[in-house]
Formats: sequence, structure tokens, C-alpha cells
Amino acid sequence: MRKLALHWQILIGMLAGIIFGFIMLQVDGGKQIISDWIYPFGKIFVNLLKLIAIPLILASLIKGVSDLKDISKFSRIGGRTIGIYLVTTVVAVAIGLLLVNVVQPGEGVSEQTLNRLTEAYASDSGVTSKISEAERQQGMGPLQFLVDMVPDNIFGAATSNGNMLQVIFFAIFFGICLLLVDEKKSAVIKDFFDGLNEVVLKMVDLIMLIAPYAVFALLAQVIVTSADPDILGALVRYALTVFFGLMIMIGVYLIIIYFFTGRSPLGFLKAISPAQLLAFSTSSSAATLPVTMERVEEHVGVEKEVVSFVCPVGATINMDGTSLYQAIAAVFIAQALSFPLTFNDQLTIVVTATLASIGSAAVPGAGMVMLVIVLESIGLPAEKLAIGLALIFAVDRPLDMCRTVVNVTGDATVSMLVAKSVGKLGTPKVKNWDDNYQK
Ligand code: ASP
Repeated sequence: MRKLALHWQILIGMLAGIIFGFIMLQVDGGKQIISDWIYPFGKIFVNLLKLIAIPLILASLIKGVSDLKDISKFSRIGGRTIGIYLVTTVVAVAIGLLLVNVVQPGEGVSEQTLNRLTEAYASDSGVTSKISEAERQQGMGPLQFLVDMVPDNIFGAATSNGNMLQVIFFAIFFGICLLLVDEKKSAVIKDFFDGLNEVVLKMVDLIMLIAPYAVFALLAQVIVTSADPDILGALVRYALTVFFGLMIMIGVYLIIIYFFTGRSPLGFLKAISPAQLLAFSTSSSAATLPVTMERVEEHVGVEKEVVSFVCPVGATINMDGTSLYQAIAAVFIAQALSFPLTFNDQLTIVVTATLASIGSAAVPGAGMVMLVIVLESIGLPAEKLAIGLALIFAVDRPLDMCRTVVNVTGDATVSMLVAKSVGKLGTPKVKNWDDNYQK
């Protein structure tokens, strides 16, 4: 008998985790019990996913590029990917700006709320560490990002998930050279990476078997560590504006899919839903990447040549949810602190939020680091930065969870678009073990 579909299992795990978290909040020492005895299992799951990210990128991208047969095909895929990523990000920022200017969530924030939030969070290490991290990143030269992309040691690069672009660079370079050498010599290497890729994808399947339990642990932890509901209430208008914007962005993806690929938007959502649920539970598109790739390749039907490039690159540079959030958060903070914004400032936000989302790491809370840069670009005085971040800090985690879903959905959508445009959108090929289709 077929078991309950994976996305339902994960959803049930999430709901149970949320309920359990609330129950434990009422129990003496409940918070500690979750942190000590439940959350570690969620962390192990996230570690397992991160563990296979680098081998998966290496194997699938080398195999993908070397399967292309000719390099011009690769440059076509590359060009389209970057182009479409930029367009979707600018659309996301525009939606965010439009919404925040219409709703004006910052106008309703009272002096009292401002003081309370500043008192609670302005000197919190969560806020100050984000400001100093942003300063560190700003001190770099304009071409530093290019320099950073080229590793001086592949083993060094492969030791940190933060170096994903370096690994992508190496894999593409290696894959192209595989195309250029004699086929008799390259065949064995291609076979090796092909086999490695299969094994890593199987690891994804096995890891996903524990996903429903892991999300239980992750969400229980989110509940017991979230800010007090009173403070969350004060930010409800801002949070709803971001949430609504993110929903619109998902709607935009579905419309694009319908019109440009002719596929059913609901079928798409169903195929990638486990990745979306994991993005929500982990707040990290990097941790979700192996699942995103597996779903897009096996359940949506995008061929490996496209998935292996578009998804990892997307996880690092395409963050539509983050850019939308940065636009709304920047204007919200300006409104709440009565800092006037000109039309030019809003245009500056379009540019900086686009760049900032590209520069944001695919890990929890990274969007807030780069938000500092957006705020500085519109001239928010340095002494107000901490107050600005303190204002939105309490709701950052739930919003991070939601924007990560959009980030991952955006990567999957663009994979489909690019695949369709180069004739590599095929039929889904679900394998054994997947979604628990055990024999
Ligand atoms: N957590 C987000 C991601 O991993 C980045 C962010 O917006 O903070 O995609």
C-alpha cells in the first residue's frame, strides 16, 4: 500500500512540532528539554543535508556540463540563467516597494513600541553581529566578488559550504575541459561522476525519510525560542506586508510557469513541495539545495544539464524572497523612524536590494546582514542602524522561513524556464525509495 505522500508527512511533522513547542512552553523547563533533547535531531538532519551539498554540486555539475557536448550550449544556459535571475529579483524588489508604499506599515508604529523594541534588541548580539558582519563585507573592493569566485585550492574550497560559488566555478571549468579531451580518456571520469551523482541523489532520498521527524524538532525549537507574542503583535502589519508580498511573488512564478512552460502550476507546486517545506523549516536555501535539485530533476523533469547549474547558482545568488523583504524592511524602518525617502532613494533600494540579495549567504538570517547595506545606501545614519534592525528583529525568524520558501521556489521556477528555452524540460522520472515508494 502506498504511504501518505511525503509533503503530507512533512506537514504533519511541522504541525506536531509547533503544537508540541507551545505545550512545552507551558511546562517548567520545557524550553530546555526541547533545546537539549529534541532540537539536536533537527540539527543532525540539517547537517546531513549540508553534508551532501558539495559532493552533489561537484558530481552533477561536472556530469551536466560534460554531457552538453558543446560549450556554446553551456554559455546559452549560463546567460539565460543569470538574465532571468536578475529579472525576477528586480520584479520582487518592485513588488516589495509598491506594497510597502501603499500599506505604509511603518506609519502605525508608536513611540512606545519603538522604545520597547530598541530597549529589547538594539544591543542584542543578534543585531550587533549583523551590523559588524555587514561592515566587514563592505570593506571589500568592487571586484572582490570575482576574486572570491576563483579558489586557489579546490580542497580548501570544498571544505566550506559558504564557498559554493568556488566549487561551482571549479566544476564548470573541469566539465568544460572534460569536453575538450579525447573521449577515450574522459569516459572513465564521466562515468565516475555519473555514478557519484547517483549515489548522492540516493543519499538525499534516504535523508528525506527522516524529514517528517526532523521538521518536528526544528519547528518545536522555533516556537520555544521565538520572541514574546506581545512584541510580535506590534509588528504584525509589517510582517503581514512582507508575507503578502511573498505570496504575490509565488503567484508570479505560477503565472510564469503556466504561460512559458505550459505545465500545470499546481503540478509544479506538488512536485517541489517537500523542498518548500524544508526551506520553511530550515530557513536555509543552502541546506535545502540537495532536495531542491532532486525534486526539480526527478519530479519536475528538468534535465540534469540544467538543474546542476541553475539550482546551485540560484541557491547562492538568486534570492527573490530576500530582496523583496529587504525592500519592505528598509522602507518600513525609514517610515517608523520618520526618515524621509525621496524617489531616488527608492530607486537606490531597487539596485542595492538586488545586489544585496545576490550577496546574501543562503543561511538563516543572512538577509538581515545585507539589509544593513541597503539601509546605509539610503543614508540612514549609523546610530540609527541598530535601532532599525531592533525594530524588525523579533519577527525576522518567521519571515526568514517564509522568504526562504520563495528563494527556493524561484530557483525551481527559473530551472524550468531555462530548461524549456533550451529544450531540456522532459517528463518526471521518480525513482524507487523516493517519497517512500518502497516496494
Ligand atoms: N535564509 C535565507 C536563505 O537561505 C536568506 C535570508 O534571506 O536570510 O535563502
